Amino acid sequence: MDLLERIIALLERIFFPVEKPRPNTAPHEPVITPSEIKEHIVLLPEVTKLNVNWQKKKFITPSKMPIGLIVHYTVSGKTELAAKNVAGYFAGTPKSLGYQLACPIMSESGKLYVSKDWDILKDCNNNAGPSSWKGMTNLSQRFMGIEICNWGLLDNKTTKFVAEKDKRVSTQRDNIKAGTYEKYTHKQELALINLCFYLRKTCPGFKFENVVGHDEIAPNRKSDPGASLSMTMPQFRWHLFSTYEG
Ligand SMILES: [Zn+2]
Repeated sequence: MDLLERIIALLERIFFPVEKPRPNTAPHEPVITPSEIKEHIVLLPEVTKLNVNWQKKKFITPSKMPIGLIVHYTVSGKTELAAKNVAGYFAGTPKSLGYQLACPIMSESGKLYVSKDWDILKDCNNNAGPSSWKGMTNLSQRFMGIEICNWGLLDNKTTKFVAEKDKRVSTQRDNIKAGTYEKYTHKQELALINLCFYLRKTCPGFKFENVVGHDEIAPNRKSDPGASLSMTMPQFRWHLFSTYEG
């Protein structure tokens, strides 16, 4: 990290202080250690391009690259095949769905899937819907979206798809709505952290303060990632700050 970057990072911390972690009322979960993160950093995320077409827009930021990241879950299975099916869904396959959403999709192994001509640093489309963060709107064209394959907040229909060991019960706290969620896999959480670090290194203007849950930017409509992530979003941002070494 050069001097200018260090100064910018310091100013970010002063002017955009990260919320202090709040008491975690959930049962103890294994935490991801900094050494474990270092072992898993690959910088360039593993991206597989699929033979589907997504409608594309371009980021409208000064750098034409994302300045933040929106964390989602898909409400689907999490295998490689499930991730490919979500990609087809985004492309409108079957056509009757015609669903105008698009952003990288992460399977249980942490691999990203996109359409065949998708550039993850330049291409975007609607992924967040009406939303706002720190005075910004049109977040789908400012922040990258990441759809992490998972059943999310479980209900009567979806709870049967998830093994008991993969469930997490949470009370209402920070961005998390009370309920039982499917946990992201450990590989997904490591790949998510790696993606944040990769974007921080690669995209001018990308800030950890802008790594947000869909449930933070559209709180009345959305519950992702909720307790699928092992931390609340404020805790996750703090985790990024405290473990990143530029
Ligand atoms: Zn979402």
